[in-house]
Amino acid sequence: MLLAAPNGFGKTAVGLAASLAASKGRVYWVARTLREAEHVRAHIPELAVVVKGRAELCPALPEPMSSEEAAAYCHAVKHRCRHYQAYLDGSEDKCPYYEQFQRALQARLIATTYQMLLKPSLLPQPRSSDVLVVDEAHNALAVTEELSFTQGTVERALSEARAINAPRTVVEFLEGLLTEGLERLEPSVRLSILAESLVYYGRQVRRRLAEQGLRPRSSLHRLGQCLRAVAAGAPFSAEEGYLTAVVVEEPRWPRCPKLFLSGTVSPADAKLLGAEYLDFTEHAPYKAHTIILDGLTTEFEWRSEEMYRRYAELLDRLSKRPSVAFAASYKILQ
Ligand code: SF4
Repeated sequence: MLLAAPNGFGKTAVGLAASLAASKGRVYWVARTLREAEHVRAHIPELAVVVKGRAELCPALPEPMSSEEAAAYCHAVKHRCRHYQAYLDGSEDKCPYYEQFQRALQARLIATTYQMLLKPSLLPQPRSSDVLVVDEAHNALAVTEELSFTQGTVERALSEARAINAPRTVVEFLEGLLTEGLERLEPSVRLSILAESLVYYGRQVRRRLAEQGLRPRSSLHRLGQCLRAVAAGAPFSAEEGYLTAVVVEEPRWPRCPKLFLSGTVSPADAKLLGAEYLDFTEHAPYKAHTIILDGLTTEFEWRSEEMYRRYAELLDRLSKRPSVAFAASYKILQ
């Protein structure tokens, strides 16, 4: 079922009440960001567990990392990680990442991100007795990822390939990319095989770095992933030493009862999701005025005490009677 209702309608409260009442097992609540998942837990902290990634939870990371880097780091060092050992033998100072899945098994409501649910992880998958709620479902119709690399990435990948004694074919391919340019690349079986090789040797580089306690970052790996997408037929553009490929994936939601929530989806989107469309948007007709302002922005780089003061002044000017303000993010709301 897809519930379309405007901001402020109370979709979260309705979704929680309906899914908890309908589920004979657990409720899975998935959102695009962890912040949104945390927001749901704030409604019923006693029932909910928020499942996070290693990037947020791993106490062994030497520096902040992306979720993919943190996973690579963990895979490389787990066998000698004291937190993992503590998790295995049940002693103090357990790995919080692995431990959270035990708590999730006991929880009535699991809140997490789309990524944690859809990518392979230890999170138990929803069963037919569970209910899955997909928040802000307009973000969930398709997941778009942009992969890119530059001539500089190829140069670094070549140095990595030489450093780990990668086969001559791989080194010659990278040398060819540098001399012939990226514009001549096109999807082929050969490119697909070479891309897999680059990913394979990139993993070795990442593992070596992680074992030395360094960030597992590899240009070979990055290049391989991008070329893998090109070889698979993803749309791409290559010009002036810069290649970008766009990968669009339709999420494969688990087979269980699902409730999609959104303020902006259409009946056509509901069809794509295979959901019945429940439209509440007409129950809250807006009379909207557009005001164009100078010197006010929610752009992250410009947020400052002064900018927050301007928001407050504007609200003060607009609020002649009790009113509600919607913000671009929870941070601004605070
Ligand atoms: S096992 Fe160790 S490295 Fe892996 S997530 Fe846990 S604390 Fe981090």
